[in-house]
Amino acid sequence: MTNAREMNRRGFLGRLGLTALSLPAAAVVGKIDGDEVLASPVEYGGFLVRRAQDGDLPYEIDESVLSRFDQRNEVFSREMWDREVFESESRFDGVEEENIMTNKPGYTRLDYAFMSAAWTIAGAFGSGAGAIGGSNGGLYSWQPLGGPGMDGMPPWDASDWTPEEVAQIVKKAALFFGASLSGIAELDQRWIYSHRFTKDFSDPPEIYAPILVEDVESPEERDDGTLVIPESMRNVVVLAFEMDFDAIATYPGGPGAAATGNGYSRMTFTAACLAEFIRGLGYQAIPCGNCTGLSIPMAVDAGLGELGRLGMLITPKYGPRVRLAKVITDMPLLPDRPVSFGVTEFCEACGRCADDCPGEAISKGERTYDPIDISNSPGILRWPVNHPRCHLVWAQTGLDCANCIRVCPFNKPEGWLHDATRALIGADNITMDQVMLKLDEASGYGEQLEPRRYWKKDRFVHIKD
Ligand code: SF4
Ligand code: SF4
Repeated sequence: MTNAREMNRRGFLGRLGLTALSLPAAAVVGKIDGDEVLASPVEYGGFLVRRAQDGDLPYEIDESVLSRFDQRNEVFSREMWDREVFESESRFDGVEEENIMTNKPGYTRLDYAFMSAAWTIAGAFGSGAGAIGGSNGGLYSWQPLGGPGMDGMPPWDASDWTPEEVAQIVKKAALFFGASLSGIAELDQRWIYSHRFTKDFSDPPEIYAPILVEDVESPEERDDGTLVIPESMRNVVVLAFEMDFDAIATYPGGPGAAATGNGYSRMTFTAACLAEFIRGLGYQAIPCGNCTGLSIPMAVDAGLGELGRLGMLITPKYGPRVRLAKVITDMPLLPDRPVSFGVTEFCEACGRCADDCPGEAISKGERTYDPIDISNSPGILRWPVNHPRCHLVWAQTGLDCANCIRVCPFNKPEGWLHDATRALIGADNITMDQVMLKLDEASGYGEQLEPRRYWKKDRFVHIKD
């Protein structure tokens, strides 16, 4: 049976000649310069995406300066050793209590309790945001966690499945365990951190050691903290987790921060289960949150989306409203190919995230290969984000901010205008992009939902009332 909203969407898109968007699964609907154009409401929402030909990537790299990122330079790690970052943020110690005592809207006891509860699984069993990881990472263990007792058996005989079906099985399992999107890429070692930096308050207080890729049998952690990934682990399954649209609409208030924590908790569970599934099939697996390597370029390689001006992955279906995890494995898997759907071109015309960033942390200029500071990887053409400035905004309130996700025109719930907007955004036409930005604004997309209203409404109505 077709509901009214679906009728609207199909009718609207049909008038645009985009009837293929109603297809149930990914389908090739055309070609542009040899690239396949795909439609899939399940994977891409209302978008038509362009799938790169073998070897083509939707990003540009200056090989002469690109080097593996050191996790010690990530802003959450810098809190632990960079005096400037530490001192600027520690000025706001105690702000949570102050906010609660004054019942500051969006920062009340209700908001902090909700946020804190959402982090429960990540906090108790996995890594927190950013700096924690490695073989001591709870559910992010580099060693099997028990499993179904099939040690020593030969790997699963997949000879009566095609490579496409085997990849589909793994991706489907990822969705079953809780991911919203999953994709597979060949592991590009350039995205593995050069060093791990583990924020750990036990004794010793921190681990700072290299991550190597070597000809070893299985993942290793050496006595000095060095992690070793076997060269044979050549694939990565990348997982994206949708964050609740209504909660994100309240950013920078409490429900938004809870959506972040919820994403991290879900990805801890899902990455661990998927790794155990792969291990149960007789292969090796390393589940990772933000640890071990850069998730965004791996996600781009796995066909999950493109990098936006705000410095995050933008997926066709959920925009930037996702959190990312990954599982590195030696299981033979057919990789997906990167996709593009006009993100770079649209970001050039837009800039709304930069305008609405309270920390002025997002670039309003042109893309560049140059980093702002050590928290950016050099050699990747993109809009660099000033991470210490961003993080200072978080410190000021005691809750994370993601205004940039809320206001991004790619962040929308499902619905006909949502689909139509994104389909047209992908038209790669500067005039059309400007028109769609105006339409987006007029529709009230991106406006903040007053945090108390999150609890009072059954469903946030994203069209202006
Ligand atoms: S999270 Fe907030 S402060 Fe950080 S870049 Fe986004 S809008 Fe700016
Ligand atoms: S808000 Fe605009 S400029 Fe920023 S990431 Fe989204 S589309 Fe790009």
